[in-house]
Amino acid sequence: MTMRIKKEFSCYVCGTKSQQTLVLSTNSMGSNDLDLRAPEMERSTIDSWIHRCPSCNYCSSNLSEKNDDAIVIIESQEYKNIIANKNIPQLASSFLALSFIQQKMNYYSNSARSSIHAAWICDDVKEDKIARLFRMRAIKLLGTAKILSQEFQQQKGATELITIDLMRRAGMYTEALNLVNETKNMEIEEVLIKLVDFQKILINLKDIDAHTISEAIGEK
Ligand SMILES: [Zn+2]
Repeated sequence: MTMRIKKEFSCYVCGTKSQQTLVLSTNSMGSNDLDLRAPEMERSTIDSWIHRCPSCNYCSSNLSEKNDDAIVIIESQEYKNIIANKNIPQLASSFLALSFIQQKMNYYSNSARSSIHAAWICDDVKEDKIARLFRMRAIKLLGTAKILSQEFQQQKGATELITIDLMRRAGMYTEALNLVNETKNMEIEEVLIKLVDFQKILINLKDIDAHTISEAIGEK
């Protein structure tokens, strides 16, 4: 089961104190999705992965942590537009706001991860079009991260596999198939080859749904 507590944080940007949720412990039963999204109950703790200051709308995984860049970034019109955008579910816009801050600080790998988290929120509330935009955003950020040698996943081929999944779920089938072929030519572990082959089947079926790793490796 998941254990949550409320804790007071002082916003590093504006000093406002607010109560935020922390997860002390959780569990997960079953298989991760192909993009590594955890199963329940961990899956549902996503709302506690990000905090938004109720006063200045600074979004962070830790509102109290020193971040002088954020003080400038959240004053930008682009940041304010993200916060003001009512078309995006609020939790997703918090992740987008964090992703924007990370992007401006040149943390492209982390920025991509936050954009993927925003996509997951949209998946949960069936905002498929917006989820697609967040996946496309994450793909771009991962491209920049790669150029700058910023690691996203440690295991060889794992970043490519997540990118393939992002592309497939965004309906970018040609790009996804190209990356499938590229990844198959890399020296990757047997289990990753199974995942690449499974992605290829899904892409050819034009299947844009979430699937699990256990499906891919034949445990189900
Ligand atoms: Zn604040």
